[in-house]
Amino acid sequence: MCGIIGYIGPRQVHDVLLEGLSRLEYRGYDSAGLAVHTGDEVLTERTVGNLAVLRRAMSAGWAAHDATTTSTVDVAAGIAHTRWATHGGVTEANTHPHTDCGDRIHVVLNGIIENHQELRARLADDGCAFTSETDAEPIAHLIEHHLRAVDDLHEAVRRTVLELEGHFAIVVLDRDEPHTLIAARRDCPLVVGLGDGE
Ligand code: GLU
Repeated sequence: MCGIIGYIGPRQVHDVLLEGLSRLEYRGYDSAGLAVHTGDEVLTERTVGNLAVLRRAMSAGWAAHDATTTSTVDVAAGIAHTRWATHGGVTEANTHPHTDCGDRIHVVLNGIIENHQELRARLADDGCAFTSETDAEPIAHLIEHHLRAVDDLHEAVRRTVLELEGHFAIVVLDRDEPHTLIAARRDCPLVVGLGDGE
């Protein structure tokens, strides 16, 4: 059983996410990842192994962006995931967050999407290129697909969730909407709030 986290607020986003991930460690996981909106861009890191591996990759790769100290917005957002693989091997490519073709939509998934193969086939027919074997990636592409029709993130996510079968919780981060996170769940336990001072 893995865990997902979304945070939007004034605190240093990556700190909150890493703290949240470490609270979820007891549930077990094989890989971990996160995506943080700095205001200008979305930085992601995904690694196989424990959180120490993720932290090392971040300190090696994120310094150039100064993302560990600076955000260009007062309120920033991020999502994170500890994965317990159910669909697709334990590889970096299968580690969450997953994105759409344009790297705009970032998604973390807890649970299982039972109709992921049908969705994948339909989206591939539509021209989507997949980079992983997971049941999570089709969600990002499906949101992308609906965004073409409605140009409204909430509505695109709503339409996407209606098409998903299974038990799951997701959090969605949009590169084009730095002040928005959308979460949805079906038949999945909802867990924690990380309040100030906790
Ligand atoms: N089914 C997803 C995967 O295999 C998420 C598994 C989980 O809940 O960690 O990537």
